Order: sequence, then structure tokens, then C-alpha cells
Amino acid sequence: MKIRTRFAPSPTGKMHVGNLRSALYEFLIAKHEGGDFMLRIEDTDQERFVEGATEIIYRTLDKVGLKHDEGPDKDGGYGPYVQSERVGTGIYMKYAKELIDKGEAYYCFCDKERLASLKTEVVEGKEISVYDKHCLSLSSEEIAANLAAGKPYVIRQNNPVEGSTTFHDELYGDITVENAQLDDMILIKSDGYPTYNFANVVDDHTMSITHVVRGNEYLSSSPKYVRLYEAFGWEPPKYVHLPLVTDENHKKLAKRGGSTSFEGLLEQGFVTEAIVNFIALLGWSPEGNRELFTLEELIREFDYHRISKSPAVFDLVKLRWMNGEYIKAMEFERFFEMAEPYLKEALPGERLDLKKIAAMVKTRIEVFPDIAEMVDFFGELPEYDVSMYTHKKMKTDGKSSLEVLKEVLPLFESQEDYSNDGLYQTLLKYVEEKGCKNGYVMWPIRTAVSGKQMTPAGATEIMEVLGKDESLKRIRKGIALLENA
Ligand code: GLU
Repeated sequence: MKIRTRFAPSPTGKMHVGNLRSALYEFLIAKHEGGDFMLRIEDTDQERFVEGATEIIYRTLDKVGLKHDEGPDKDGGYGPYVQSERVGTGIYMKYAKELIDKGEAYYCFCDKERLASLKTEVVEGKEISVYDKHCLSLSSEEIAANLAAGKPYVIRQNNPVEGSTTFHDELYGDITVENAQLDDMILIKSDGYPTYNFANVVDDHTMSITHVVRGNEYLSSSPKYVRLYEAFGWEPPKYVHLPLVTDENHKKLAKRGGSTSFEGLLEQGFVTEAIVNFIALLGWSPEGNRELFTLEELIREFDYHRISKSPAVFDLVKLRWMNGEYIKAMEFERFFEMAEPYLKEALPGERLDLKKIAAMVKTRIEVFPDIAEMVDFFGELPEYDVSMYTHKKMKTDGKSSLEVLKEVLPLFESQEDYSNDGLYQTLLKYVEEKGCKNGYVMWPIRTAVSGKQMTPAGATEIMEVLGKDESLKRIRKGIALLENA
């Protein structure tokens, strides 16, 4: 049987890493086996609908490279692929009525006041009222009269009060719950729309989905879904519930602020491939301890049986490291295109060779915003302390540095070739004549031209970018500073 998976997002805002992980795993499970990956938009909860959220879904899948084989924009014969459009076909009502006929569901006409008076239970931190099956005892005449009178109603699942229901999850194994614990959840709301709880079952079945992958917040509802499959006499799909994603403090990753949404991560300077690679490892690990994978490689390696049940930590330090690796490996042209806005912001109005500076930082940054702090000295020499000239290993101090700077200044003044190479040759000659170590000379010069302890390049590379006038100005300033110390 061909594997068919689906990504079924609700257009309620940004694409959170948890959602993207579901999409990625669904995609990988299907593609690993040559199956189909489908996109279904679950927009039946009109209250949570956010304008523009559907576009974010398309944009993200496209950017990340999760190409769907079927979806609203790509008919595969199982449409419509948008739930609100499916409502119009009458499919949910048809199946809900089938359940009513089988005694597996019933009309409920209880009003708000009555529902509010019901016993409540706290489930996963939310207070929900437990329906007492009041309307199950209505006679068919009463129901017909209520319907004829246009009384608002919902349709509820009729769960048995005795016995138990077992369902199988590919990772968690068999899970059994007492039926008495299953509330008679609403299948069709009073506005005629299906609830997610009902629609996901009808859709997954009628769209021939073989594997359902979703966050484990759905684990506790799954027995009710399995009860629906049983009631219809349908075969349930394989379930893969994914572990929780937590922050470094092992708390559920907050969605607020959007900093852990896909777009939020892009804004923070992460690159798409690194985000995908990182998300792939949020709960899944390959054999061996390799960590860097392209999407193609993930398709080859992805065995969903290796998904872990323990919470996955969203480790920003690891993501930053991974991003740095992707930046190092990136083609220079693409890197420059991405780095240029950050360089321009850090060095406004400067007429410097940004390509040269970009090449210096490419292997040194983890995320693009790291650039600013690394290159700002090119624009303006920072105030620095003379103590920076002292370096034990290089055997430099204020005195030796002053001597070196004073000796190299005339060499640089008469130098015409301000290329890195040309400058370097001059210094090598000087080092040779002086009979000292390279660092003894390079350290003070680099300090003078950068005013920094850490720079993305050596003294002569920096001077090449700064040019003659600015380089000389900075060396003279170093001399003055040391003389006054
Ligand atoms: N619409 C649901 C959500 O976005 C989908 C859950 C599922 O994959 O079944 O959370």
C-alpha cells in the first residue's frame, strides 16, 4: 500500500517549530517510502482563524522544500483540501448522521445555561464540562419537534460508559483508557461546522491517509478518534505522536513572541537549511552520531521508529553552531547576498570593500547578526586601552609596541602597494631584519588598526580594506596613545 501522509495545519498564525516538525516528519515518512505527502488546511475553527496565516503555510513549505503532492493548489482526486470547503460538500454532516443512525452519536439541544451547570473536570490544565448524556434519552418525536422548531443543536459522540478502548501508537505502543473517561465530545458544532476532533477522522479516512503524525498533545484525544473509526467500521491509520518540544529549562516551548516560529528564526539570522536540519533532530536521531543532513539525506535516513518519546530540547546553542556550519559551507555569492544588509547596517556610509569584509567573517559567525560586532571597527576605530598592546605569548608590551609602530610607520608611509600581499611582504622583511617573531610585530599593528583584541582577520588584511590614509592615521594614533601612557 502506498504511504500517504498529510500536514494539516490550522491557519492560526505563524509557523511554529512544532508545526514545522510535524510537516517535516510527515514529508520524510512519505518520501522515505516513495509515498505521497498531502497538505490539508484545517480552517473550521473560525474564531482562531488569522488573516494571512494560510499564506505563511504555503510560503514556509515552499521555502523549506517540503513539496506537497496534493493540496488545495494541487488536486490529487481527494479534494477539496480545505476543510471549510469540505463543509460545503456536506461530507461531515453525512457521516455524523450515519453515526446517529448507528446509535454512535446523538443530537444535543442543551443550552448554554444547562451546560454551564454541569460538572467540570480539569483536563490538561483546561476546565471542561463533562456532558451527562442528558439528550441521549430524547425520543425521536422530541428530536423531530426540536429540529422542526429550528432549535440550535450540536451532534455528540456517544461513548459507552462501560469497557475500555485501546489504541496503538507507533512510538508509545498500546494505550488503553476506560470508556467512562471519554466524554461525549461534540462532532458537529451549532454553526454546522465539524470540530477538529470529528473532521480529522473523516478527512484522514476519506483521504486514505496511512500515517498520522502530530504532537503528543493529541495523544489523550486519540482513544475518542479510535472509537469513531470503530463506530464507522473503518481501519484507523498508523499514529505517530511526537514528543514535546521544550526550552532549555525543560518547560514547554512558548509560542509567544514568535521567536521560535520559522519566520522568527529567519529574522534572527538563521538559514533555512540549518533550521530544517535542526528541527529534524528535535526528537529523531539517526544511527551513529552524525548531525548534519541535507533534506535529501534526511529522506534517505529517516526511519520514524527512531523517534524518541522523551521531550526534545530546543537548544539554541546547538542551532547556532549548526547555522555556523551551514554558513561556512555556503557558496560565497549567496552568503554575500544575505550578509550585505547586515554589513551595510554596521558600516553605514562607509566606502569599504564589503565583499572582502564578508569573506573575513564568513567562517567566523554563527548567525548574521554576529556580523555587526565583528566589523564595526572598520567604520570607526573604537576607544581602546593601551593595556591591549601587552600580550604575554607574543612577548609584547607598551614599550616594544611603541618601538615597532614607530619603525613600521615610515615603511608604510612610503609603501604604495596596499594589498594584503604587498603589506605582508614588507612586514616579513622587517621581521627578518629585526630577528624577532611574527607576532611580536603583527600584534601591535593589528591592535593599532583595529582597537580590538579579536578581529576577523590579520593586520595586513585589515589594512588592505582600510586603505593607506586610514591605516596610517590609526597607526599614528597608536603611537600617540603609547607615548602618552
Ligand atoms: N489542525 C491541527 C493543528 O494544527 C492538526 C493536528 C493534526 O495533525 O491532526 O494542530
